[in-house]
Amino acid sequence: MSQTKRQRTAMTSHRHCTVCWAPIPLDRDPPICRDEGCSVTHSKREASRKRFTVMLYLFPAIALVLAVLSAMQA
Ligand SMILES: [Zn+2]
Repeated sequence: MSQTKRQRTAMTSHRHCTVCWAPIPLDRDPPICRDEGCSVTHSKREASRKRFTVMLYLFPAIALVLAVLSAMQA
């Protein structure tokens, strides 16, 4: 009886491919399955996510520099 309980616990300790949601091992990095299409999709997503993060920091930084420059000129 305790064996079935243990098996159920093992079933839950996995993650899913972020692209096709296939079950993959918990320690898999990047969290995608072995499918080549998923690998391509994941790297594309990762690239656009990185670009978005850069812009997220870059725009306030530029705004801050412009604010400081205009404050210095005044
Ligand atoms: Zn996949």
